[in-house]
Amino acid sequence: DIEHPVKVLIVGNGAVGKSSMIQRYCKGVFTQEYKKTIGVDFLEKKLQVSGEDLRLMIWDTAGQEEFDSMTKAYYRDAEACVVAFSTIDRASFEAVKSWIGKVEAEVGSIPMVLIQNKIDLVDDAVMTKEEAEELAKEVKLKFYRTSVQENYNIDEVFKYLSELFVQR
Ligand code: GDP
Ligand code: MG
Repeated sequence: DIEHPVKVLIVGNGAVGKSSMIQRYCKGVFTQEYKKTIGVDFLEKKLQVSGEDLRLMIWDTAGQEEFDSMTKAYYRDAEACVVAFSTIDRASFEAVKSWIGKVEAEVGSIPMVLIQNKIDLVDDAVMTKEEAEELAKEVKLKFYRTSVQENYNIDEVFKYLSELFVQR
């Protein structure tokens, strides 16, 4: 079969768990150590959805998200996107619409999914369940609660995004 390469972005404020999520999904590892970057442009993961072989190339940021200086090269030719915020970071929640806007300004409308990461810390949540669901409704994206630490819903997010991509 032909294998389709797909450039996937993960956007969101610093420290929401983007690098951790890429490492977890592509390499199956998790560490508490805060890492600004995974040191490479992207990691790959192969999967099959709806009978199609995909090779996801999941791009990480090198921490530039904190300086609002994401390069054009990061966005260029992106075909799908995970938009992430953190359960324990209100600013990351409030930045979601701005991240979606940036992606759409650079590459137009592409398959996207919204995630609330660090759901293992839900007892310390700084937004209500209703607020998060309201935001998802407003931006019209499917919404997943995830924990990279507990490996909860990570595979599901990328499977859903891949299905959207195949059906586009
Ligand atoms: P990035 O800046 O968005 O790439 O975030 P990182 O992947 O560097 O993660 C920031 C910190 O959050 C690190 O210490 C991670 O170990 C931690 N982290 C990531 N995902 C989770 C999670 O689901 N639960 C918890 N409790 N910590 C997480
Ligand atoms: Mg990072």
